[in-house]
Amino acid sequence: MPVKKEDLKFIKGVVKFEEPMARHTTFRIGGPAELFVYPSDDGDLLNILRYASEHKMGTFIIGGGSKLLVGDRGIRGFVISLNAPAFNKLVFDGEYASAGCGMKVSEFLKKAAAEGLGGLEYLAGIPGTLGGALMMNAGWPTKAIGDRVEEVTLIRGLDRETLGKNDIKFTYRGSNLGDFLLISAKIRLDRKPKEGIEAEINRNFEKKRQTQDLCYPSVGSVFLNPSGTMPAWQLIEKCGFRGVSEGGAKVSEKHANFIINKGKATAADVRKLIDEIQKKVFKEHQIVLKLEVKTIGDF
Ligand SMILES: Cc1cc2nc3c(=O)[nH]c(=O)nc-3n(C[C@H](O)[C@H](O)[C@H](O)COP(=O)(O)OP(=O)(O)OC[C@H]3O[C@@H](n4cnc5c(N)ncnc54)[C@H](O)[C@@H]3O)c2cc1C
Repeated sequence: MPVKKEDLKFIKGVVKFEEPMARHTTFRIGGPAELFVYPSDDGDLLNILRYASEHKMGTFIIGGGSKLLVGDRGIRGFVISLNAPAFNKLVFDGEYASAGCGMKVSEFLKKAAAEGLGGLEYLAGIPGTLGGALMMNAGWPTKAIGDRVEEVTLIRGLDRETLGKNDIKFTYRGSNLGDFLLISAKIRLDRKPKEGIEAEINRNFEKKRQTQDLCYPSVGSVFLNPSGTMPAWQLIEKCGFRGVSEGGAKVSEKHANFIINKGKATAADVRKLIDEIQKKVFKEHQIVLKLEVKTIGDF
């Protein structure tokens, strides 16, 4: 039975029905979310999770949608966004920052720099939220956010708890936080002159502009770099995929691990390119290219 508006009157935040996910992903791809919600605070969030659990409905937490490939037929159940003031708070205490996981990484860096606090300049130019960055252990080129995390407050099931750094295991573009909903994090920064931090941020932006394809919608790198061999972009290039298109999706000419949306790409187009790349790389190099992009919904 489809959920009716009256059934969701208990939600204080905004609820959207059949919301196109293409509006919420940097790929600009994705069919409708049955229910797209912005809880207004922790209590609202818990009520939504409780309702979903009681009604056996799925829940998916979205950050900035910069690592997502959402199927063309969309997502059933709730897509939950923490893009609300209650999840965007930022408090500095000495060299530590406590920030809500709905906050954009770019805003976090800017506000920390204004306080003369740096150390995460390598995140400059990585789109998305703090929650997404923690979940993905985002970083570039060799450093990652996990190195700086002191604690993370999260929801496990329907309970709120805080994990200290010794309980959290960050790995290459991942962590052991995968089953949880991340609410806020305490991050260790370094006191530095503001001008130096800003200059470093600008330098990193410039390096990214030179090496990454930022002119078209994408999710950044599609595949993880396999260990002990060539990086994914090189394997893809060696297999002849640089510049290859499938419908509206194309392997970037500038960075072969990027698939770009030339305008009207569907998730099926991207999926097809991904499958072809994985098959050929395996056939020619016996290497399984694993996905860095998260695929969700019905394709
Ligand atoms: C042009 C471009 C360049 C990029 N460059 C880099 C780069 O250099 N380095 C890099 O690491 N990444 C890069 N990325 C990828 C992407 O920006 C990062 O992975 C980013 O950290 C994802 O954050 P997000 O908020 O957009 O997460 P989303 O894409 O919304 O979600 C990613 C995952 O995190 C989960 N998630 C998000 N928020 C929460 C939460 N609060 N609680 C629980 N789970 C949550 C989602 O469910 C999903 O599984 C790039 C992307 C683009 C488009």
